[in-house]
Parts: sequence; C-alpha cells; structure tokens
Amino acid sequence: MPRESNADKFERTQKILSALGRAYPGAHCELNFSGPLQLLVATILSAQCTDKRVNLVTAELFKKYRTAKDFAAAPPAEIEEAVKSTGFFRNKAKNIQACCAALVEKVGGEVPRTMDELHALAGVGRKTANVVLGNAFGINVGVVVDTHVTRLANRLGLAKGADAVKLEQELMKLVPQDDWALFSHLLIWHGRRRCDARKPDCANCEIKKLCPQIGVKK
Ligand code: SF4
Repeated sequence: MPRESNADKFERTQKILSALGRAYPGAHCELNFSGPLQLLVATILSAQCTDKRVNLVTAELFKKYRTAKDFAAAPPAEIEEAVKSTGFFRNKAKNIQACCAALVEKVGGEVPRTMDELHALAGVGRKTANVVLGNAFGINVGVVVDTHVTRLANRLGLAKGADAVKLEQELMKLVPQDDWALFSHLLIWHGRRRCDARKPDCANCEIKKLCPQIGVKK
C-alpha cells in the first residue's frame, strides 16, 4: 500500500465508518443484558467465548443472581458450574465474585462510571471497562479492541500489530470520540459477517474499495 498521510487515513476512516454504518444500521453489542451489572458479568464471560454461548449461559444465570451481592455471596462451585460452558470457568467465576464483592464493599453494589474505578476491579481490563462504559452508560472513553477489531484494523491498514493498548490509541486518533463505541460495533459486525479470520469475503465486501487487504492471502 502506498504511504498514506494522516489526513488521508483519517478521511478514509470516516468513509469506512459511513459505509459500515450503511451496511449495519442496527449494529449494537450482541451480548444480552439489562443494566450495567449484567453487562459487566457478560463481558467477563465473553473472553475467549462467543456472544451466542454467553447469552445462553446468562439467560439462566441472571434469573438466579440479580445483584452484585447475590453473585458475591454464592458458593464458588455454584457459579463455576453455571458458567462452565464459557471456558476458563474457574477464573471467570473467581473474577465475577471478586469483582462483585468489591462493588458491594466499595460502592454499594453499583457499577462505577469511570475507567479508573472499573479497571481497578478484578477481571476488568480496559476492554471490559470500555464495553460497559460505552454500552451501559453511553460514555465513550475508548475503543473496544477485541479479536475482530484487531484483525480488521490491521487488514484495513488503520493500525498495526496485536498490542490492544497501542491499537486502541491509534484508532482513537482516527475516529471522532462520539463514534468510538459505534466504530467497534461496526468492525465487530463486519468481522463476524464478512471479514472472517480465515476466509474473508473480499469479493462481496462493502468496503473493499477502502481496504488495502493487508495480510490477506489472495
Ligand atoms: S476487503 Fe476483505 S480484508 Fe478488507 S475489510 Fe473487506 S473482507 Fe476484510
């Protein structure tokens, strides 16, 4: 790909944002949740797991545990069993309980609305905090960088590498802050529906004219 100026890359990113917005007008977080606590728990469970599987698990989980106190007070083996099929279940159960215990102890069971407070909770990295802030509270403090966003940002030549923190910083420079949450939804939707990890459907891609297809085998 010929060297692209920052201004050109910015402009191309706006075009990608618009084209994906037209392709996926209803793009949203695909985890089912009602309220910030449920989204926090669902996002912890979504690590290395599909949203579909998480939604199956949380449909039952959220009937049984309704508050941070419920999660914190449950016997660990019970939570482990309930989230087993999402993988890494011991760690996830431990993080959910530690996180909920801290919520009860420090902030009366409410999910905080700042990156620093969320990030300080067990099992809550920047990505999880961004998901909760952007989707439960409508607060854009960063761009969610998951496996799809990483892959697409690289293929589209918007950012380079696998370091989520660096990728996020690069993407934040290219996208207006109000669109940060939407931008990651759009990349995730496109990654799931068109720009597959193994077999990207470049021939039918809505943004093929804007994509240098970096690293895609022809
Ligand atoms: S052109 Fe291919 S690599 Fe680029 S976004 Fe579309 S599907 Fe992905």
